[in-house]
Amino acid sequence: MNATSVFLHICCGPCSLMPVVHLRNEGFDVTAFFFNPNIHPEEEYDLRRASAQLAADKLGYPIVFAGEAQKPARWIRELDGITMEGERCTICYRQRLLPTAQEARKRGFRFFTTSLLYSRYQHHEAICLAAKQVARETGISFLYRDFRPYWYDGINLSKELGLYRQKWCGCLLSRKEAEIQRARRAELKRQKALARMAALS
Ligand code: SF4
Repeated sequence: MNATSVFLHICCGPCSLMPVVHLRNEGFDVTAFFFNPNIHPEEEYDLRRASAQLAADKLGYPIVFAGEAQKPARWIRELDGITMEGERCTICYRQRLLPTAQEARKRGFRFFTTSLLYSRYQHHEAICLAAKQVARETGISFLYRDFRPYWYDGINLSKELGLYRQKWCGCLLSRKEAEIQRARRAELKRQKALARMAALS
């Protein structure tokens, strides 16, 4: 590995795009690592895995997949009973970043980072804290970048490339939360439409 090689943890195809584009613009050689045992159910995991592969094919970067043993079952066991959103996410970040840094070390990379830093919906500071802790434990440098300003560029490119775009973060709790939010928005829309009709009559 040369001094500009970076091992990039990716959570899905769409979120990988802007980190790859901007790290490459800076002169880094990027290798992606798909490691997300948090994604449920299994069909969803397979969809996101395929989308990550498609993004790598389209932009032309190497991608490494974690083995079958790293599918959801272990994640569920380790977070059993922890339902509070912030608390479970902090554990979830570490669960993905520690194996990323360990794999980076095994493969001789000097840096690791993550596409989680692209999302406007993740706990950015908690990701940084988890990554810094992992860096101290493994001796691999955490390459911090804030990719959030490229949010809409990433959305547009993912649509252009025809990538699958997920509707919830990953775990079943996040799916439930997203469904509740969607139902609330739909109800609000319905009430507004009723109010407009009432005002016209
Ligand atoms: S909401 Fe996302 S980051 Fe938080 S625990 Fe669930 S999968 Fe992990």
